[in-house]
Amino acid sequence: MRLCGCRLRRSTALLLAVLGVAAVLYVRYMQQEAELTDPDPDVVRIIRQNKNQKEYINRKGIHVVVGHYKGDPPPENLTQAAILNTNDYRPVPGEGEKGMPVVVPAHLLDKMRKLYRINEFNLVASDRISVNRSLPDVRRAGCQDKKYDQSKMSAASIIIVFHNEAWSTLLRTIHSAINRSPRELLKEIILVDDASERSFLGRPLDEYVAQLSVPTRVVRIEERTGLIRSRLMGAQEATGDVIIFLDAHCECTEGWLEPLLARIAESPTSVVCPVIDIINDDSFAYTRSFELHWGGFNWQLHFRWFTLGEREIQARRKDNTAPFRTPAMAGGLFAINRDFFYQSGSYDRDMDIWGGENIEMSLRVWMCGGSVEIHPCSHVGHIFRKNSPYTFPRKGGVGGVLHHNLARVATVWMEKWADFFFKVNPEAAKMKDTTQVSHRMMVKKRMNCNNFKWFLDNIWPEHFFPDDDRFFGKIRNDKLEHCVQRPYATGTGQPSGPATTTDCASNWYTPQLFVMTVDGFIMTDESVCLDVPDGGRETAESRVRIHGCSQLSRQKWFHDSSTSQLVHVDSQKCLDLPTAANPESLVVLACSDGPSQKWTLEEVPWTRLTITRLGELKVNA
Ligand code: UDP
Ligand code: MN
Repeated sequence: MRLCGCRLRRSTALLLAVLGVAAVLYVRYMQQEAELTDPDPDVVRIIRQNKNQKEYINRKGIHVVVGHYKGDPPPENLTQAAILNTNDYRPVPGEGEKGMPVVVPAHLLDKMRKLYRINEFNLVASDRISVNRSLPDVRRAGCQDKKYDQSKMSAASIIIVFHNEAWSTLLRTIHSAINRSPRELLKEIILVDDASERSFLGRPLDEYVAQLSVPTRVVRIEERTGLIRSRLMGAQEATGDVIIFLDAHCECTEGWLEPLLARIAESPTSVVCPVIDIINDDSFAYTRSFELHWGGFNWQLHFRWFTLGEREIQARRKDNTAPFRTPAMAGGLFAINRDFFYQSGSYDRDMDIWGGENIEMSLRVWMCGGSVEIHPCSHVGHIFRKNSPYTFPRKGGVGGVLHHNLARVATVWMEKWADFFFKVNPEAAKMKDTTQVSHRMMVKKRMNCNNFKWFLDNIWPEHFFPDDDRFFGKIRNDKLEHCVQRPYATGTGQPSGPATTTDCASNWYTPQLFVMTVDGFIMTDESVCLDVPDGGRETAESRVRIHGCSQLSRQKWFHDSSTSQLVHVDSQKCLDLPTAANPESLVVLACSDGPSQKWTLEEVPWTRLTITRLGELKVNA
């Protein structure tokens, strides 16, 4: 019974199957028609095509998946996976040449907005620029004229780690390095794929790089590990005497390599960074950046650019083509002697995913006998993003990972300043007991490294951290029981705005904490200072603001402990509360006995152990 019924149904199924096959063959036939007449010269063979998507092999043998987004709204059935796995690199002649901005035509604007978040830069713009685009020679004349003796230089291995990078930005990094380097100075390029999920970064990438003029290979990491361990993996593979790390979205300009290698040849313990120019994340325009900045970090140990220190400004007056010192490096791009990389402790392999490794390396290199420098004759562009496009697995997302990494940096390298860091960053403090740093402590011991105090005094005298020789705490106005508070920073820039007071916080409140140096600078986090912009001498009453520290005398103050006045040194006027004429900010005016001019410098303990003025050792809460 059953068999009989089955048979009948089986024959129906057979008929349907035959019809189905015929239909598929018909569609294939139609697709072949399409293949023969495809107008795109880049298309060699179509694999699959329908109204939402086209997959084909291009002239370079690359498997390309193109989603069609024309029209509004975009097709719903184009899956996220198809979008992510699309390599839509199609250079448009002339686009972005000489570092000019890309103009995206109106019909692509929708797609452009949609694809932006994949990489947190304008992928559509990038895909329209040749991987061999030209760039202006941004070097100053003195640099262009400089002759470097190549016979003294060692060839370098370039290491580029990436996770889900776009094809066009990755390949532009590679081609710009090859195109603008003397062939004999490039030993190899090592790409480290940190568990990318995009299909075009797999075999198509292997095949593409195999035909480059500099030996290039891809090392694969199966499980996401982060940029720190990925770089360690790349370094392990490197055979050049110098290693150069680059982010996966850079562009090297004319003459970028020789200055870096020349400096390392002359000083093998120098870690040398190029000047990092800006590739706009939206237009891909190339903008030269100033050479008048160096790197530091704020109270949260976040890397920041600040105006050059006094000694470096002096040195640059003599020779502005010589490398200059920087307390910290941005981290993405630098050259280092390979032996010194290992001798000095390479990287902390217990740091995850992203962040903090640049501060760790900067402190370690400086404190353990090396130097961190910027070479003004070497310019490399980098796409600076406003947001990170990656997922941050483990340890509670981006915040957790970063706090974990930075807790390690502070614990190993900052001694009692670690207490301060953990007071400013209670989130990081929670991480410190969950992570083991003993093997990094051994590096510090083995290298017989200097301490953090030495680093602050000798490498970064312009710093704004608390220190034994300076006041740290609140600036309290006796009349109002108010404390000076710094303005909020907008974005990642330096906070700046009128100096104001507000109710004093009863516990640790970072925006109300200031240092006053022996030179009389009243500074706080992010290198901002109590400043009298008009100098205070011309008018009876001048506004006071909190603004970038400049080491100028108009930012100098003197606290008279007998009168409690805060005297502005240049004008000999006194800090006072807002007035009818200047209701929005503190002012300086002629000194008087008035209670509005009485300010108490109220010390706040910033480390667990302090030595009191009477010489007692005190344990703070
Ligand atoms: N990267 C990586 N694995 C990660 C995170 C980042 O390989 O888990 C790579 C990333 O592709 C880039 C480099 O590390 O080449 C630096 O990351 P990113 O550019 O996001 O840092 P930023 O320049 O924003 O500081
Ligand atoms: Mn980057």
